[in-house]
Amino acid sequence: MGLLTGKKAVIFGIANEKSIAWAIAEAFKREGAEIAITYANDMVAKRVLPLAESIGAEMVLPCDVRSDGEIAAVFGRLGAAWGGLDILVHSIAFASKEELKGSFLKTTREGFAMAMDISAYSLVALMKEAAPLMQGRGGSVVTMTYYGGQKVFPNYNVMGVAKAALEASVRYLAEAVGPDGIRVNAISAGPLKTLAAAGVGGFNQIAGHVEKRAPLRRNIGQEEVAGAALYLCSPLASGVTGEVHFVDAGYNIIGL
Ligand code: NAD
Repeated sequence: MGLLTGKKAVIFGIANEKSIAWAIAEAFKREGAEIAITYANDMVAKRVLPLAESIGAEMVLPCDVRSDGEIAAVFGRLGAAWGGLDILVHSIAFASKEELKGSFLKTTREGFAMAMDISAYSLVALMKEAAPLMQGRGGSVVTMTYYGGQKVFPNYNVMGVAKAALEASVRYLAEAVGPDGIRVNAISAGPLKTLAAAGVGGFNQIAGHVEKRAPLRRNIGQEEVAGAALYLCSPLASGVTGEVHFVDAGYNIIGL
C-alpha cells in the first residue's frame, strides 16, 4: 500500500517534464493517489496532455488561475467526480521577464499586481474552492516558494515580494482552515532549471553559488522536492501546518 493510497489530489502547475509539479504528480501516482492535473492554457496543453496520459491521471482540466470562473469550474468537476478532495498542490508563479532583471525600483504597478495575483493570491482563490471539498477528510495543501521571499536575491525583485506574500498567506490560511483539520504548508525549493527559473536574470549564477556554499555542496533535484511534498501531504506530517519547509541542500542556514 502506498503513502497516498485512496487519496484524491489536484495538481496545479505542470508546464513540462521539468516542472516541479510534474515530479510531484509522478510521486503521488507512485504512492497510490488518484490525480487531477490542470494546465494554464492551450500553449502548455500540448505538453501536459501526453504527460498526464503517461501516468494515467484521472482528470486533466484547463485552469488559468486569474479566472475565478475557471477555478470554480475545476472544483465543480472534482466535486462531481470525486465527491471530495484530499490534496491540493499549488506550484504556480508568474512575473513578466522585464520585472525579473535589474533594479527593483523599476517595478511597475501592473507588473507588481500581476505577480501578486498569479503567484500569491491564486493560492487563496484555489483554497476557497478546495476547503469545502476537504471538509471531514483532513486535507493537505502544499505550495512552492523560494528563499528570495525572505532574503534579497539579485533580479528576483517582485517575485520575492510575491513569495513573501505567499508565505504569509500559508500561515493565515493554515489558521483559517486548521479547525477543519486541513493543513497548509510551503516548500522552499533551491534553484532548479525549469521554465519559470529561465525567466529570472542570472539564474545560473545563483545555482552555481548554491553548489559551492550549501552544506551539501550541490543543488537539489525536482524529485527531492516531490519527496518533501509527499511527506507533507501524507499522514506522516499530520501534525505539521503553516510551515515553510526548505529543500535547498541546506543553503538557507549559511551566514557567511
Ligand atoms: P514551471 O514553469 O514548470 O511552473 C510554473 C507553472 O506556473 C507553469 O506550469 C505555468 O503554466 C504556471 N502558471 C503561470 N501562470 C499561470 C496562470 N495564470 N494560471 C495557471 N498556471 C499558471 O516552473 P517551476 O520551477 O516548476 O515552478 C513551480 C513553482 O515552484 C513556482 O511557484 C516557482 O516560483 C516555484 N519555485 C521554483 C524554483 C526553481 O528554481 N525552479 C525554486 C523555488 C520555487
